[in-house]
Amino acid sequence: MVIEEKKARILIVDDEKMNLKVLADLLKNEHSVILARSGAQALKHAFGENPPDLILLDVMMPDMGGYEVIKCLKDNDRTNAIPVIFVTALNSMEDEEHGLKLGAMDYITKPFSPPIVEMRVRNHLRIVHQYRLLDQLAYLDGLTEIPNRRRFEEVFKNECLRAIRNRSPLSIGMADVDFFKQYNDHYGHAMGDRTLQAIARVLHNSVKRPADLVARYGGEEFVMIFPDTDRDSANLVADRIRLSIEELNISHQYSGIADHITISIGLATARLTNEFRPESILEKADINLYTAKQSGRNMVVSSLVSP
Ligand code: GH3
Ligand code: MG
Ligand code: MG
Repeated sequence: MVIEEKKARILIVDDEKMNLKVLADLLKNEHSVILARSGAQALKHAFGENPPDLILLDVMMPDMGGYEVIKCLKDNDRTNAIPVIFVTALNSMEDEEHGLKLGAMDYITKPFSPPIVEMRVRNHLRIVHQYRLLDQLAYLDGLTEIPNRRRFEEVFKNECLRAIRNRSPLSIGMADVDFFKQYNDHYGHAMGDRTLQAIARVLHNSVKRPADLVARYGGEEFVMIFPDTDRDSANLVADRIRLSIEELNISHQYSGIADHITISIGLATARLTNEFRPESILEKADINLYTAKQSGRNMVVSSLVSP
């Protein structure tokens, strides 16, 4: 399992150049610092491709103040998890209470003590990092360490929306290990587990595009998402995956069709519209998987889904 750790990105927002400089000098050695001179600029960064891990936000700024900025951030799914620390000259208890009520993680008043700011930032980043680790673990399957069903459900929902928006084809594959009950019965559950791990690794490594996803759906079933992929292309990929499992050449003397482990895959491709039930594409993939099993296993069966 690879969980990345890189330099944290801190967005500092203040209309006073001098304040920006002081905070930037304080933090730039340990972190990667981004500066914004206005609320609008801050939001541009927060909603950009590479959002910050933490925001230090001034309250009093012309045009758009810090309270307004944090409201925008908290109102949107994309940005509401980014922790915000107010750094402000407003130093009454009421101000602090108001800032925290709006969802800020912390409230620092100016003039501030540089080491205290440094340590508070470090503490908040530590929480962010641990939260992300937990989040990543919650989306990984414990046995195979590839994405789990929960992750699949999320990605599937988003990819369906994206496919509708972009009017692009979406293909889904359901893969199931052939005669795996016999494998477990004869080789034992522990070896069954190791074989599932090996299969998962090959499936996970055999999808090439960044948007593709392979997840463990449950038991010895895996699900694959191929965004922006038509039926012919999905067929090619699925058959290559089927073949790479054969090439693993894991001995299975009790398989009804080969002397090694094989998988069957059901594929479904749709051009989704709003009238479409997204589940229908999953159901079709499942039906095609069943057909593949009935027709001899170790094969890919595909079809187009219409609304
Ligand atoms: P088919 O070719 O029709 O798919 O037959 P099958 O034997 O693979 O199908 P079935 O669904 O009857 O059996 C699936 C078996 O997969 C049941 C169970 O023994 C095994 N299995 C499911 N999850 C796990 C797991 O996490 N670890 C191990 N070792 N085995 C599992
Ligand atoms: Mg099976
Ligand atoms: Mg099964």
